Amino acid sequence: MVKQPPPSSRRTTQPATSKRKVATSPKKPKAAAKDKAAPVEDAKTVTQAPRDMTKEEIRLFLTDLSHAWPNAVTELHYTTPFTLLVAVVLSAQATDASVNRVTPGLFADAPTPAAMVQLGEEGVGEHIRTIGLWRNKAKNVVELSRQLLERHDGQVPGTRDQLEALAGVGRKTANVVLNVAFNQPTVPVDTHVFRLANRTGLGRGKTVEAVETALEKRIPPEMIRDSHHWMILQGRYVCKARKPECWRCAASVPCLFPAKTDRPVSKPPRQST
Ligand code: SF4
Repeated sequence: MVKQPPPSSRRTTQPATSKRKVATSPKKPKAAAKDKAAPVEDAKTVTQAPRDMTKEEIRLFLTDLSHAWPNAVTELHYTTPFTLLVAVVLSAQATDASVNRVTPGLFADAPTPAAMVQLGEEGVGEHIRTIGLWRNKAKNVVELSRQLLERHDGQVPGTRDQLEALAGVGRKTANVVLNVAFNQPTVPVDTHVFRLANRTGLGRGKTVEAVETALEKRIPPEMIRDSHHWMILQGRYVCKARKPECWRCAASVPCLFPAKTDRPVSKPPRQST
């Protein structure tokens, strides 16, 4: 998929994933079987807007984001609903960039559920060991492929219940697949959306579920599907966790964040003596 340009001319890259610790012990995989609770860190620390946006402010805010991120699409690379599902499962607690580095090789060897089962846990692990929680994810990817063959004739199902019944598939993953592969108006809430919604007053809540419910209720129906991509890109590249870059934000007028940031002052060059 083609990456979208940021609203400003300079794009900030994601943190390098090479510093992530790679699990070395096979004894006990860390808990990440499902993709729930990714934004837990933010739930404790994220600053909330003093009030919810009005309907008019929400429409204005999202219209501004739509101009900032035209033609926004997922940054995960995929070619079919199956490869999308696998990529999203792999992206739990990992960056899209780190997943995109491993999936070309994985999907070349295993583009279908049958091929993924054939490749097996060890074979999948060989491809994905640079991303976090790879042992658990390799197990889940093979198991969900087996389940797709057994339950759905090798096809990715298009309902939330069926998706969430698959190994390693939680609510957020199901929402992404429904939104991207099946054009359904879902609002997947990841750490970026959680932070953005609370900070701006778009949809405040202390839990992922509360934010998802608030957004579903408040976003105009015709904007829900695309808003997923706008919000993720905005949170990832502009409304960043540590310090939002409000001075270059396309939606700063309707945003209710009380501590908007100014453009950093660049130091004058040192005079040579
Ligand atoms: S103005 Fe600042 S806080 Fe509000 S959405 Fe933009 S970057 Fe985020």
